[in-house]
Amino acid sequence: MEKKIGQRVFLMGVFSLLLTTALLVGLFHSSLEERGKREVQQLTRVLAEVYPWLNEPSDLQPFADNTKRITLIDENGKVLYDSKSPSSRLENHAEREEVVEAMETGRGDSARTSSTLHTYSYYYALRLSDGCVLRVGAEIESFLADFQNSLPSMVVVLVLILVISALVSRFLTKSVVSQMEKMIWHMDEVNDRLPKEMLPLAQAIRSYQEKKEEGEKWRQQFTANVTHELKTPLTSISGYAEMLKSGMVQPEDIKTFAGKIHKETGRLITLINDILELSRLDEPGNIGPMEPVDLTRLARDTAEMLSMKAEQFQVQIHLTGSTESVYVLGNKTMLEEVVYNLCDNAIRYNLPGGYVQIETFLTGNRPTLVVKDNGIGISLEDQERIFERFYRVDKSRSKDTGGTGLGLAIVKHVVMRHNGRISVESKIGGPTRIQVIFPSVEEQRKTQQAAQQKEGNAE
Ligand code: ADP
Repeated sequence: MEKKIGQRVFLMGVFSLLLTTALLVGLFHSSLEERGKREVQQLTRVLAEVYPWLNEPSDLQPFADNTKRITLIDENGKVLYDSKSPSSRLENHAEREEVVEAMETGRGDSARTSSTLHTYSYYYALRLSDGCVLRVGAEIESFLADFQNSLPSMVVVLVLILVISALVSRFLTKSVVSQMEKMIWHMDEVNDRLPKEMLPLAQAIRSYQEKKEEGEKWRQQFTANVTHELKTPLTSISGYAEMLKSGMVQPEDIKTFAGKIHKETGRLITLINDILELSRLDEPGNIGPMEPVDLTRLARDTAEMLSMKAEQFQVQIHLTGSTESVYVLGNKTMLEEVVYNLCDNAIRYNLPGGYVQIETFLTGNRPTLVVKDNGIGISLEDQERIFERFYRVDKSRSKDTGGTGLGLAIVKHVVMRHNGRISVESKIGGPTRIQVIFPSVEEQRKTQQAAQQKEGNAE
């Protein structure tokens, strides 16, 4: 990051240097030229003033020099006098731009590029009282000439400035970065000394830091919970195995012990699978292949899959709502898990003779799943917490029925990753109604495209 900031500062310096140079060159260029032109005009005006007192055209000679050329032309364009070459050798000047203009309006000027790039001829002409035209011409040095002369020294200065700005930008970046580091690690000491403009940034960093710490704490809590949850069945398994090994178990009880070991192992496997699923869901980014998934079909398949369990718990499963396909754009395996976990809970936290109702339909054009039961119900306080990892209202009931305390956490995560919403309506003694609304297929496609675009931009 430091390097990046340094590069930007340096580039900014170089850019502003180039811009300033270009501006100054332009400014000098035009002002130098203007001055040259004004000098020529001035001289022409002075000569026009003194002209009536001259005896003959050649009296103009003293006013001419190497750089200024004076020409006198009569009203027909014939050259009466020229300070550079004898007038007799010169062609008629009646067609010259500045002469034509002067004859018509009283004064005229023109500029003609000369053979070299750096100079051009400028002519200024005035009509005199006797109808003749007096013209002064001069080679005006363009700024480029000066520029070329001073180019070597300018290059040296430029390189020097570049080196200095590289050094300064490095120093500046270092100091900014170290200031920021100080701000992050010693927030309280620096806060009152901080300039007002920096406060929002400092606050943003602080809240980021707090969130990070919170996340850290939460992760530690989760790890502690996982360890505890894993340890409990393992301790039982180890205990049963120990007893079997020691030969303390009567032959007729061996089967019971093996059954217990089998049950605990099964619990461990479910738990590990749930933890893996959650950690997959925690990873940012893609949630795997998205495809149109029929919620109605999922509901039917799940009801069938859970029919044995329902019978065991003496609970009836009803499929209501749409008999037509209701499509969600999403990850099929994950969505299966949502329907399964919700129905599984509705059976497990039910009472003998109770029912589970699975309903799929469209809310507007949004695919909706409702799982309803008339089981034991959930109090208002618990409704807020049941989506937390490892939170169970009745721990022993959950464990006895094979719960891990992670089912609803997974459900919530999957729904969130699908940009859906989940809500609970319940009270102690039931009924419980859990509703999931997913975005329509079109909405989901748009969101996905936007996310992909963002990803593309970030690269
Ligand atoms: P578990 O594996 O313990 O079922 P879940 O995350 O699926 O974990 O659910 C968390 C807790 O929410 C459960 O322990 C249970 O107390 C409560 N719960 C979930 N579904 C229902 C329901 N349909 N009726 C009553 N209580 C429920």
